[in-house]
Amino acid sequence: MTTCKDCTYFFSVPENADDFEPGKGDCVTEKEDAKGKYWLSKPTTNASFSCPTYNKSK
Ligand code: SF4
Repeated sequence: MTTCKDCTYFFSVPENADDFEPGKGDCVTEKEDAKGKYWLSKPTTNASFSCPTYNKSK
């Protein structure tokens, strides 16, 4: 089973950040609509099961 930890869209919360917790991170994906491209960020954890957008990091 794949998890967010191995996804290229997963970014860990830095240890020096106010909201740091082990395993906590953000899923940041690029979206596009009629107005153009934008980034969508949502909280996740490295142990969360991957979603259909999963993209394996190298
Ligand atoms: S929620 Fe999906 S796209 Fe976002 S980090 Fe996890 S697997 Fe990747």
